[in-house]
Amino acid sequence: MHEVSIAQSLLELALQVSREQGLGRVKAIYVRVGVLSGVVPDALEFAFEAVSEGTPLAGAALVIEEVPVKVFCSPCGEEHLLRRPFPMRCPACGKPVDKIMGGREIELRALEGTG
Ligand SMILES: [Zn+2]
Repeated sequence: MHEVSIAQSLLELALQVSREQGLGRVKAIYVRVGVLSGVVPDALEFAFEAVSEGTPLAGAALVIEEVPVKVFCSPCGEEHLLRRPFPMRCPACGKPVDKIMGGREIELRALEGTG
């Protein structure tokens, strides 16, 4: 499963950040997941719960923010957000978009902890 390896790398990164920030107990881990990343948020939460078991981050909640697709439309000369990733057309002029600026990311945004 795709999500398990992503959960594993998020866990390692979060452990490193919590050490650097000297957080005692981590309550929540905020991540941003692009809708084009192919990650299913529920599956990622589930995978994270499994991989964090027995680590200092066990019991921390994974809070997932879904990031919409951001595209650049050359005819409009502007960036637009797409509510839905497909069809990949400019919401303003309806032309197929030529550049995807965001929506593929999987990133750790912040940790919330005590101490
Ligand atoms: Zn356009």
